[in-house]
Amino acid sequence: MSGHSRRSIGVLTSGGDAPGMNAAVRAIVRTAINLGHDVYAIYEGYQGMVDGGNFIRRMTWGSVGGIMHQGGTVIGTARCAAFRTRDGRRQAARNLLEHGIDSLIVIGGDGSLTGANIFRQEWPELLEELVQRGELSRKKADAHRELRLVGLVGSIDNDMVGTDMTIGADTALHRITAAVDAIASTAASHQRVFVIEVMGRHCGYLALMSALATAANWVLIPESPPEVDDWEDEMCRALRAGRETGRRHSIVIVAEGAQDRFGNPITSQYVQKALEERLGEEVRVTILGHVQRGGAPSAFDRNLGTLMGYAAVECIVSEEAREPLLIGIRENRLVHAPLMACVEATQEVARAIEAHDYNRAMSLRGGSFKDALRTFRTLVQAYPRKPEPGQKRLRFLVMNCGGPAPGMNTAVRAAVRLGLDKGHIMLGARNGFRGLLRDDISEMDWMSVSGWVSRGGAELGTSRKIPAESDLPKIAQVLEAHGVQGLLIIGGLSGYQAAHLLFTHSNQYPAFNIPIICMPASINNNLPGSEHSIGADTALNSIVMDVDKIKQSAVASRRCFVVEVMGRYCGYLALMSGLATGAERIYLHEEGLTLKDLQDDLASLVKGFEQDMRLGLIIRNEDVDPFYTTSFIASLFEKEGGGLFNVRQTILGHVQQGGDPSPFDRIQATRLAARCMEFLIAEAGRVSPAGAFIGLQAGQVTFTSLGDLPRLLDSEFGRPKEQWWLSMRPIASILARPRTQ
Ligand code: ADP
Repeated sequence: MSGHSRRSIGVLTSGGDAPGMNAAVRAIVRTAINLGHDVYAIYEGYQGMVDGGNFIRRMTWGSVGGIMHQGGTVIGTARCAAFRTRDGRRQAARNLLEHGIDSLIVIGGDGSLTGANIFRQEWPELLEELVQRGELSRKKADAHRELRLVGLVGSIDNDMVGTDMTIGADTALHRITAAVDAIASTAASHQRVFVIEVMGRHCGYLALMSALATAANWVLIPESPPEVDDWEDEMCRALRAGRETGRRHSIVIVAEGAQDRFGNPITSQYVQKALEERLGEEVRVTILGHVQRGGAPSAFDRNLGTLMGYAAVECIVSEEAREPLLIGIRENRLVHAPLMACVEATQEVARAIEAHDYNRAMSLRGGSFKDALRTFRTLVQAYPRKPEPGQKRLRFLVMNCGGPAPGMNTAVRAAVRLGLDKGHIMLGARNGFRGLLRDDISEMDWMSVSGWVSRGGAELGTSRKIPAESDLPKIAQVLEAHGVQGLLIIGGLSGYQAAHLLFTHSNQYPAFNIPIICMPASINNNLPGSEHSIGADTALNSIVMDVDKIKQSAVASRRCFVVEVMGRYCGYLALMSGLATGAERIYLHEEGLTLKDLQDDLASLVKGFEQDMRLGLIIRNEDVDPFYTTSFIASLFEKEGGGLFNVRQTILGHVQQGGDPSPFDRIQATRLAARCMEFLIAEAGRVSPAGAFIGLQAGQVTFTSLGDLPRLLDSEFGRPKEQWWLSMRPIASILARPRTQ
């Protein structure tokens, strides 16, 4: 133990359960133990705190093993009427102090956090009452005069101010997206209309984002009710027009709290009736209900819960938690903010909706929510708007480059439709520069990208071909022949390098003096100028789900797995999947791997298996070291493990590049494509148009000049010189093993 005093920390989950809560509990318990504190789980939410006894249990390293992949919360949650009373809270205080607990980490929604705050405010008085009643000694009361409180938001609704994402929302989006994709296929077979109701009483996040991710045809959310009185007619016109263009199904997503601008609820049954009457078609309703809450947490929610849990303990043992704090993630970084300010701001949104002040509700939701709604409203149109009379129609070329990344199709679809809607002509080159050099280019119309939103792979084709300087005259000739006035390259490093080549030769070739924009799409997440690249989230989820299965296969046998994941020289997939699956060891190229590392790790595995360890997991980045290969490590550990455990290797391979894009990848692909088209249109009129790569940095969409590529890129290893996610490395290490091992 270092200088600080040993604390007893209690953790509970309360209110609605949310996938990812287990990851938070695990991280809280293990971080607390490794920092030398005692940690207790309070089972069944506040009810367990009021009832005490066996509901409050000391946790060990092992007691939170094997829980991260489970949905819900293994320590239980409840709604508790008694905690709303002072008597109940006094009893709760007494029960906590039986274990010396005076630090509390509450994982729940705004209701639970409000309750926790009241409890904290009353704490000194509750203790005084307990002393008066003879239920607590004065000495003990004096030793625990204040209650430290840190809150984490577990809520599938993503409805909390103070954090960009709540624990559980991403998983709920996975569930909804999978359900809507499934319904879309049956709806298309029968040419049917479906109304799908999703959760969200005051918050349209799940409805809007799932509508964007599944290319639903209409959405109704609480914060932004239809603006016109005859909105039913407007909706039906849009759906009818979609049918006329050949679309075989229509999907309307309704948030459970949807309402009209006078505050009257818009139920899914009402929408069904309105559609049936006006369209004369059979309309089915599916209320997704509790499937949205259930199931295994997504990779993002596991890591969000883990990082927030870690940060919560750090806060609670520091002086910062003298005030109650809320841990959040803002602009892709962990932050903390005064708890009650966040809770009050959250409740403000609900009040604004109740007061029919929708502008205020929308502005409280923030810029990217508004952007998403705007993009959705453009994409749901059945036809592009007619160009303005006399409008200049520009010709833009779209292509993929590099390895296939899930989300490429989503991006092409959005770019083509948004470009057409602005009155421009969209061309597609097949198979990247390989196709372009063969003049394999054709015009893309609105329906040519129908159904692409959810499709994995790359319909337009892609290739890793980076043109040589000798190819440039031919490329210039093809671009000129098609009158290309702007170029969008969706892909990985080879696309960036190709774009850079054209950009730096624009003086010699007038055909290259056009705006060029690259959009990061690579499962490796190894592109400069962006913290996320399209496809990486899908790959990460695919790895995590596969590792879950691998771990289950080892039940009851003492086994160590060495799992090799993709990423080339970039350890992003390895680190993030290791964090999300609780790997004991993660080998990254950025850190290298020595014989000494392997020996130390072997020794600690042996020690672990000699005690009560049943399963070991090592994640190895494919290019970590050319000599210490996956099979070498497996053989070494098997031989030197002395029969204490056996070792299996799994090379996950190309499953990582496949699969339908995750909701996050679809949403970001759409968002970035919209901004890429705005960029191309704005730059096309300039004398010296810019070349850039777009990215997501600190939660914002950013543009970096193509000229900066050499400065930002570690060209030897094909990855950015600075990699933000490496800051999470120490957390993965802390959670991997108890200090003693
Ligand atoms: P959520 O945390 O998901 O918003 P609830 O609003 O149902 O869920 O709150 C969960 C529990 O938190 C309640 O059952 C109650 O025990 C406690 N709680 C909520 N609000 C208060 C309050 N104002 N005072 C005391 N306890 C509260």
